[in-house]
Amino acid sequence: MRRLESDRLVLASHNAGKLREISALVAPYGVRALPASEFGLPEPAETEESFAGNARIKAHFAARSTGLPALSDDSGIVVEALGGAPGVHTADWAETPQGRDFMQAMEKVWKMLESRAVPEPRRAHFVCTLCLAWPDGHDELFEGRVEGRLVWPVRGDRGFGFDPMFLPDGERETFGEMAPERKHAMSHRARAFAGLVAGCLA
Ligand code: IMP
Repeated sequence: MRRLESDRLVLASHNAGKLREISALVAPYGVRALPASEFGLPEPAETEESFAGNARIKAHFAARSTGLPALSDDSGIVVEALGGAPGVHTADWAETPQGRDFMQAMEKVWKMLESRAVPEPRRAHFVCTLCLAWPDGHDELFEGRVEGRLVWPVRGDRGFGFDPMFLPDGERETFGEMAPERKHAMSHRARAFAGLVAGCLA
């Protein structure tokens, strides 16, 4: 396992919610996270059918383009009764001509579950794969997941993406209702991050 010796890295993401969460996660380790937008990097096409494959594409592209270590996050929500959808296509389900609309994406999931008369609890999990890549082509991968179920109507306006629809096991609040610190203590991203810390930062 290779350690991160640099005190800065590029965050290979244009997603404001992920940038906010990852910057907060790396700051205590004395690492400054520079958003890819500061380097004018475009978003590479995510052409793989796995979280790890897409995380690799994004991190290697940013590391090669900037000459700095780069960290990417590929994540999504996996709904059991929908055969794993939306999964790696979670962000695509929110695309509209006016930009991303996650309320519409959550409604689409709910309508599909209703039309198939899927019984409660409607099991789902979030997955996050982090890839730390170096300009020389080396990389390290870490995965985290959190299990729970989907609720309707959605609850809460904190967090981002599918947070208001996701109730983690053993909790009373959805990710959309929870204080950010509580979400950070148990989320798929936090769990993947714990692996990154143990392997590359601590
Ligand atoms: P991608 O990794 O850029 O392909 O996008 C993943 C998508 O999954 C995001 O746009 C969110 O909709 C969703 N997602 C990933 N992590 C979270 C989370 O922590 N909360 C809510 N939605 C998430």
